[in-house]
Amino acid sequence: MLPLGQQIAFLLFAIGTGCIALRGFYRLYRCIRAGREDADPRFDRQPARLWYALTTTLTQSRTFRKRPAISFFHACIFYGFVLYLLVNAVDALEGFFPFSIPSSGLAGIAYNFAADLFSALVYIGVIALVMRRFLLPSRRDFRFNAKTLLHEDVRHSRISRDSLIVSTFILVHVGSRAVGAGARLAAEGPDRFQPFATLLSHLFTPENAEFWRIVGYWGALGSILAFLMYFPFSKHIHIFMAPAKYLVARAAPSGVLPALELNLESEEQKLGAGKLEDLGWPRLLDAYACIQCNRCQDVCPASTTGKSLSPAALEINKRMELNHLAQSSWGFERGAASPHPLLAFALTPEAAWACTTCGACMQVCPVQNEQMLDIVDIRRNQIMIEGEFPTQLQSAFRGMERAANPWGINQEQRMAWAQGLKVPTIDENPNAEVLYWVGCAASYDPHSQKTARALVQLLALAGVNFAVLGKKECCTGDAARRAGNEYLYRQLAEKNVATLTAAKPKLIVATCPHCMNAIGKEYAQLGGDFKVVHHTQYLESLVASGKLQGEAMPSSITYHDPCYLGRHNGVYDAPRNLLRVLTNDFVELDRRRENSFCCGAGGAQFWKEEEAGSERISDNRFREAQQRLTSGDGRSETKVLAVGCPFCKSMLESTPCKEDKAPIATKDIAELLLESVLKRAGQSALQTPATSSPKPAPEAASQPIGSPAIAAPAENLPEKAEEPMPAAQPAPASPESKAPEPPAPAGERKKWSPKTSAVKRESAAAAEPVTSSATAVEDLPREQPLNLIQPAPASPESKAPEPPAPAGERRKWSPKASAVKQEPVP
Ligand code: SF4
Ligand code: SF4
Repeated sequence: MLPLGQQIAFLLFAIGTGCIALRGFYRLYRCIRAGREDADPRFDRQPARLWYALTTTLTQSRTFRKRPAISFFHACIFYGFVLYLLVNAVDALEGFFPFSIPSSGLAGIAYNFAADLFSALVYIGVIALVMRRFLLPSRRDFRFNAKTLLHEDVRHSRISRDSLIVSTFILVHVGSRAVGAGARLAAEGPDRFQPFATLLSHLFTPENAEFWRIVGYWGALGSILAFLMYFPFSKHIHIFMAPAKYLVARAAPSGVLPALELNLESEEQKLGAGKLEDLGWPRLLDAYACIQCNRCQDVCPASTTGKSLSPAALEINKRMELNHLAQSSWGFERGAASPHPLLAFALTPEAAWACTTCGACMQVCPVQNEQMLDIVDIRRNQIMIEGEFPTQLQSAFRGMERAANPWGINQEQRMAWAQGLKVPTIDENPNAEVLYWVGCAASYDPHSQKTARALVQLLALAGVNFAVLGKKECCTGDAARRAGNEYLYRQLAEKNVATLTAAKPKLIVATCPHCMNAIGKEYAQLGGDFKVVHHTQYLESLVASGKLQGEAMPSSITYHDPCYLGRHNGVYDAPRNLLRVLTNDFVELDRRRENSFCCGAGGAQFWKEEEAGSERISDNRFREAQQRLTSGDGRSETKVLAVGCPFCKSMLESTPCKEDKAPIATKDIAELLLESVLKRAGQSALQTPATSSPKPAPEAASQPIGSPAIAAPAENLPEKAEEPMPAAQPAPASPESKAPEPPAPAGERKKWSPKTSAVKRESAAAAEPVTSSATAVEDLPREQPLNLIQPAPASPESKAPEPPAPAGERRKWSPKASAVKQEPVP
């Protein structure tokens, strides 16, 4: 027990520091509340939320997803502090009341043993983390790309200073507690249930034990009171903010962007985020939940390939700015607008446009921050308010707006991919069991047309009653939405929702994960309720039910998980189950499943030049596949990189580094399965009537896969479709065979080069009429010449081609008036 004078001093100190700390906490709370109301519910299903927050916090499950050794030391500190909530309360009472907890009885033994053990573990944990942060400075974990925008506080070593203060506090706090416990045992005798305190007790004598107990008391509890004043603005606040973040975690899948209200009546309408206060409050909370671990930067494809984007720096910069505002008299927490735009301190415009929306940052973040959503909000503001965006996106926007596809090819040609095949439309076959959503890529891009052609042949061979929308199908608007162009997305999405609602599909099968995500998940925000599966899921069910039988091929095959199929929609097993049927030589990439590495196309990147960096994202990914297939893991001569997304296919097939490497074919799983099925069936399959009669009961598949993921499809097509399908119709020739350089043919990305030279080409590309690119399907075998170069429906804009934007400048985009009924807010 403390002497009376010290008791009074301690109480006064506690009241003083407590008041200052409370004021800090309150300002922090007000700063977070200064954010905008969030589009997603954050307080619904409270029991489930509470349970999730408790279990995630107490198991540290998200922390242990990566860096297991570091996570172990972090867990030592975390569990020590959880226990210390009780230990500190007991210690504080011991200073005012004459009692102590002896090591007798189960509770007393457990308490003293746990307090002793965790004191040691916390100490070990902190020392390990301090050594890592300060003695291993070469580690990339705490470094930022030289191009990354850093808040001035970060540049002035605020992170290191903060870490030092927090570490020192923990060492003083826990060390003092150990000193007090050791001194007590020096007076009372050793305790076998407190081995570390017993060890320390040898440093003291019964005569000086009381003095050191009091020193330990003040050191342990006084340091907490002193630290409380700094606590709200330190990184240590994450011990409260991380559980708070779990509690209000976004329930929607990561592939579903928050809904945006487009109220054009309102002059005051805020679209996207230009400043801190435009972000939803949960994303201001993110800044305080961030533990500054840089795990998100580690997995970010843009950051990894030398772009200026760092999702970690984004959160840390937000935190530094918020701290500045909270500790100043600016009045941000009282509603004053923040002084700087996000693009002035949080990230550069180039960084905002470098994001592929792969979601890796959000998936890996131990505190469930939503970095990607910040970036999309910034893009929304840039596009819909500021009119600042990479000029190359203009072509894709115009194409989507006028021709319902980003290539800008006339909608009349949407079925050109199926030439020579019998593919019924929904009007011809309104009772189809399966509606195949072809998507723009498979409709117009020669790389992807092979996938569509393979899929419909497989459906026919399996006797599936299917149809396509044909010319009624429009772009889903995925790329427009990821680019921040919510107006354009809404225009396309509403049209598709109306078309699909009228068509009443029983099941939609999509070959494009972006389409699958948009239709199956995002259209729900617009009233669309559609069941959509990826073609690999559906094909898996056909193979599992014996409707398709393949034969293992002599190829080494590896698989690239597309972000929008895997990470955003959780489809990992169906493609693998199919590939294990297709080959006995399936090798996994190191970065796979939820840890997959983006191909570089997502987030509308496919439609623009990659931002300047050290390498292309697709090069980085292709090299990994190439290394895996040729390093001895792949035993077969033929090497195949399998994909399940048309954009991944195009990126990985055309990535520049591929040219220097051993030949590796990039194929969709549907193409591979068709080859395998035809190989097993022999040429007789080529004459197999589409669906004239149920196929004979198959023998066991060469390598059985699991039970069907979805219901087996209907057996027969209606009579109208019972014509022989030329199943072996050759797929369209790849455009590389002609490879004319400028102007870039539709379906191909423009050649990547560092930003400086890239911008010189932007203006010319942006000035091209959107319908001029017709080479996408011009190599299709055809009986009559295809008229693919028809101009898009006349519009005022088409009469007056826009002048090219000056090189390097971003140009303002204005949506068609009909997009959302009125002119957008300028
Ligand atoms: S979504 Fe992907 S590209 Fe964008 S910041 Fe996160 S990790 Fe980087
Ligand atoms: S945002 Fe998450 S992953 Fe990134 S540095 Fe902060 S805590 Fe780590």
